[in-house]
Amino acid sequence: MRLLIKNGTVVTAADQYRADILIDKEVVAAILRPGSTAGADEVVDAAGKLIFPGAIDVHTHFDMPFGGTVTADDFRSGTRAAAAGGTTCIIDYAIQARGGSLQAALDAWHERAAGKCAVDYGFHTAVTDLNEAVLAEMPSLIEKGYPSFKLFMAYKGALQVDDATLFRVLRLAGTSGGLVMVHAENGDVIDVLTREMIARGAVEPLYHALSRPPLAEAEAVNRFIALARLAGVPGYVVHLSDAGALSLVAEARAAGAPIFAETCPQYLFLSMDRYEEPDFQGAKYVMSPPLREKGNEVHLWRGLAAGTLQTVASDHCSFNWRGQKELGRGDFTKIPNGAPGVETRVKLLYAGGVGEGRISLQKFVDLVSTAPARLFGLFPRKGTVSVGSDADLVVFDPEAEFTITRAGQAQNVDYNPFEGFTGRGVPEKVFCRGKLVAEQGRFTGEDGHGRFQPRTPFRLL
Ligand SMILES: [Zn+2]
Repeated sequence: MRLLIKNGTVVTAADQYRADILIDKEVVAAILRPGSTAGADEVVDAAGKLIFPGAIDVHTHFDMPFGGTVTADDFRSGTRAAAAGGTTCIIDYAIQARGGSLQAALDAWHERAAGKCAVDYGFHTAVTDLNEAVLAEMPSLIEKGYPSFKLFMAYKGALQVDDATLFRVLRLAGTSGGLVMVHAENGDVIDVLTREMIARGAVEPLYHALSRPPLAEAEAVNRFIALARLAGVPGYVVHLSDAGALSLVAEARAAGAPIFAETCPQYLFLSMDRYEEPDFQGAKYVMSPPLREKGNEVHLWRGLAAGTLQTVASDHCSFNWRGQKELGRGDFTKIPNGAPGVETRVKLLYAGGVGEGRISLQKFVDLVSTAPARLFGLFPRKGTVSVGSDADLVVFDPEAEFTITRAGQAQNVDYNPFEGFTGRGVPEKVFCRGKLVAEQGRFTGEDGHGRFQPRTPFRLL
């Protein structure tokens, strides 16, 4: 099957040019002058449209157990929603069980994903219980296509690791081609503040945010940067939310340290006042780190434009408000943490970023596709439009208007945190390895089309 996408404007992280793209089976076979007459079985007219490399979301949680419940989206609905939103590859987290091996975690998550994914996928490994055997596993996992490891500096008594653990993993993984990622919040301080709040009856969703102040994040980012520099290795901060933490990353990078950071649309578009929505609606926004004060987002946008932040991921972790978020009525610590976002990430970043003049088109492509591919070992198979790369392509209509509503979503969850947001720019057609997986925001693909993507070791490019 040869497919020709004609008359579009190709946009990569570096370029923008008019071209026709010939897809042969699963890859880009040729990039041709506009008006080419290449023989194709099928032609898509992309006049007036932009053509981006398929977006890559390096932070999702599908089918994840959390506090006695499990996320509303599994790998089927989650990857359908990804496709609908222009994302053709996701990387989820396989979380080590206490006493278990990392391989066992990966086996369990492979089983959850097998046969269900509509788009391509990979896994980071989350290390929660370190011992010699686990350390010994790491180099071979890096070789097998799992070059990224996540550790939690928060969630005391559950996922949190101490500095010795973090330092040992940084040193070993970082010198073996791995990239260590952290959830950076000071879990000990948060634990103290949380207990005090619950004890004095401060149990509403707002207190979730107040128990996790910005300085608790900045402190952990500071410590992580110091540990990575002591180990002499790169480091990556997931879901960075605070302006103070951002300036620490900027400072480290200015000093030449290979420190990378991701933020998420929720921190760019939503703020802390959401927690005060009446009737427990504020629980919809309970996530960690929490939403920050209005005005904080200005710094994050500047960080994206300046290159201090390299990626925008969704941290998609959906729980229904009814029956799941409600578990925390009367005690915010029982509200499952997380919110949906895999479906809306690309259009929000385009509309709020490119549309509002905050970032260039090239920067947009870099943030949602190219930089994630480079940092996580998928480039150049993915993350760009080039001959021989996977035909993961988004035909994007920059003029079409959208309104985000729960009713119109593929995400299998009973609310959307961006309900009512409007903007311009929607993925019109989405191809994953040459297969049309979504059209006009609707999933049109096939469960099981998605394939596991082993990734190459981390390299500074
Ligand atoms: Zn997460």
